[in-house]
Amino acid sequence: MDVSRLLDQLNERQRQAVGADAKDMLVLAGAGSGKTRVLVHRIAWLMEVENIAPFSILAVTFTNKAAREMRGRVEHLMGRSLHTMWMGTFHGLAHRLLRSHYQEANLPQNFQILDSDDQYRLIKRVLKSMNLDEKHWAPKHIQWYINGNKDEGLRPQHIEVNDDPTQRQMREIYQVYQQTCDRSGLVDFAELLLRAHELWVNHPDVLAHYQRRFRAILVDEFQDTNNIQYAWLRMLKTPENTMVIVGDDDQSIYGWRGANVENIQHFLRDFPGAETIRLEQNYRSTGHILKAANAVIDHNQGRLGKELWTDDRDGEKISVYAGFNELDEARFIIARIKEWRDQGDALEDVAILYRNNAQSRVLEEALLQESIPYRIYGGLRFFERQEIKDALGYLRMVNHPADDAAFERVVNTPARGIGEKTLALVRDAAKNTNQSLWQSGLQLLGEKRLSGRAASALQGFVDLILHLQEHTAQQCLDQQADTVIRSSGLYAMYQAEKGEKAQSRLENLEELVTACKQFDMPEDVDNMTPLAAFLAHASLEAGEAQADAHQDAVQMMTIHTAKGLEFPLVFIAGVEEGMFPSQMSHEEPGRLEEERRLCYVGMTRAMRKLYLTYAESRRIYGQDKYHTVSRFIREIPADCVEEVRLRNTVSRPVHNRFQPATSHEVFNDTGLALGQRVAHPKFGDGTVLNYEGCGDHARVEVGFDDFGNKWLMMAYAKLVPL
Ligand code: ATP
Ligand code: MG
Repeated sequence: MDVSRLLDQLNERQRQAVGADAKDMLVLAGAGSGKTRVLVHRIAWLMEVENIAPFSILAVTFTNKAAREMRGRVEHLMGRSLHTMWMGTFHGLAHRLLRSHYQEANLPQNFQILDSDDQYRLIKRVLKSMNLDEKHWAPKHIQWYINGNKDEGLRPQHIEVNDDPTQRQMREIYQVYQQTCDRSGLVDFAELLLRAHELWVNHPDVLAHYQRRFRAILVDEFQDTNNIQYAWLRMLKTPENTMVIVGDDDQSIYGWRGANVENIQHFLRDFPGAETIRLEQNYRSTGHILKAANAVIDHNQGRLGKELWTDDRDGEKISVYAGFNELDEARFIIARIKEWRDQGDALEDVAILYRNNAQSRVLEEALLQESIPYRIYGGLRFFERQEIKDALGYLRMVNHPADDAAFERVVNTPARGIGEKTLALVRDAAKNTNQSLWQSGLQLLGEKRLSGRAASALQGFVDLILHLQEHTAQQCLDQQADTVIRSSGLYAMYQAEKGEKAQSRLENLEELVTACKQFDMPEDVDNMTPLAAFLAHASLEAGEAQADAHQDAVQMMTIHTAKGLEFPLVFIAGVEEGMFPSQMSHEEPGRLEEERRLCYVGMTRAMRKLYLTYAESRRIYGQDKYHTVSRFIREIPADCVEEVRLRNTVSRPVHNRFQPATSHEVFNDTGLALGQRVAHPKFGDGTVLNYEGCGDHARVEVGFDDFGNKWLMMAYAKLVPL
């Protein structure tokens, strides 16, 4: 291969990083400066010029999607497939490691991954078994406590507690939870990392093997590694191998999940020979976008300090739109997307980003209404949907019946007369004998300790699982899924539900069979059955896998998920005080700065055009909240922004909901606009808050001064604009 190809498309500094002799390096640079590109080219360089085998390379990325993209790019540069290269997320790599060394890690061979939803359910069950009231011991908080400790490498016995009964109790819950996991071979996400670290600590021989094997270690998005991840990497590092980390302290956005941006300094302290390379040219965004993002992040203190410039043109200004409410905001966004599409541009070049997953629903509905295809990354995605988790629950039982989380999920879904009382007996027995729920169930049946009805209901479930196991043993993966979905009664259950929702659940179940059919067995799973590999894939990929990857579709995701990605056209929705920065950021020190970094990450995803939108009123948990424009928008220099349909809303206090709005789109044929004042013969004066439908079916919601909010049919309401 012509080596110059690896250096041609790089600037001087990038070349220096890519072609450096074997040494440790930190590439510290702002968004869009080509850090990830440097890693990709460096990997190719190592193989091509330094003759390092793919087998000896370990590359860590932040998401599975990023890992796939990186592998694709390296393979493209090299012109061949490189499946022996270890490239993945920390969790994915830890899983791979634990599968190969399950015995040393003290795990059953077929251990299962517990995703965060399963973990939550399990914690609830643990609380119940300990007779603790969820009102006092909030499961979410316990989950945070357990994962936080694991991220610091702490087992219950390592946690120091004083006489405080609350602390003692928390530690005990952690302990019982862990015993439950161990008993049924379940490994939560934090546990994957902790076990992988303990594997190094307890088995120097295993560690030494990997130290020798991995001659080059490369890590993207290093600013978001947590302590256990860094400890794991650090142990792998010897004087003989090299580590290249790339990152940007301004993009550290996972502090709330235990990420520690100081790991950048720790790296420099621990490896004093490491060279720091700074990249300063941004190749992604236009001048206005870059200037605005730089100005926002400049409001943070204690930055490592980076310059970022572009020789791209200024481009269009950033547009800010103040929606009357979240529906108006969504309509505005969708209208701009339609314009974009009508110009012949691709939908997949458009991203709608938001602070919270819950914001997606309104946007999704607006897109659906206009039949604009969209795809959501992160959040409640395909593998996290209820019906899919039900089906996976059965598949997990088929694969490994001692899986307590799966047992709980499906034992009485669809309902088969197994009541809480029976389950309580099973759980008690499991606890007393330290067995899985499945084994205890079998035992209770064997010893005839259940009443006639309860026994036959439970026996029905046991027979079903045994039947499924036997029946699917010789089937291929998609047949297995199909058999399980139908024989378990799940399909019939959702069929009986009727309605839109149930219909889409049935479609999802069918899609699961398709997913199984399309599933490519990964090369790195020597000792797994296709079913076990698929289940691991489903847990690891939940939120990243997409149902239909080929259609041209708008991409929607939280800003967190958008890290590292880029799109020509970007919308950030909900840029208002209380949403972004979030309410919580006022309460905890440091949170506001993390929110600002998040804003920086969001803005720097945009290549050509950026819209920031917000809603002056927003319905949250059924209540209308009134918000002002986000401080982040106010931090953007005036010459980089323009307000769409200029209204004086940016400076006006927003809680004045009764201001007539003159600029919002007049809805179809009603002649009314959102925010407009109207009079009704019976209810008096009010403000138009919302509308839906058109023609004879048009309805409007009016907030009457004396009668509260009401939905009225336009055709009969006799509203008079004021
Ligand atoms: P982030 O901090 O958001 O992860 P990054 O620093 O990893 O960004 P990349 O994604 O590697 O940046 O690069 C940003 C864009 O700039 C990409 O489209 C990349 O292909 C392009 N790019 C990087 N370096 C160059 C270069 N030397 N010449 C032309 N384009 C480049
Ligand atoms: Mg990157």
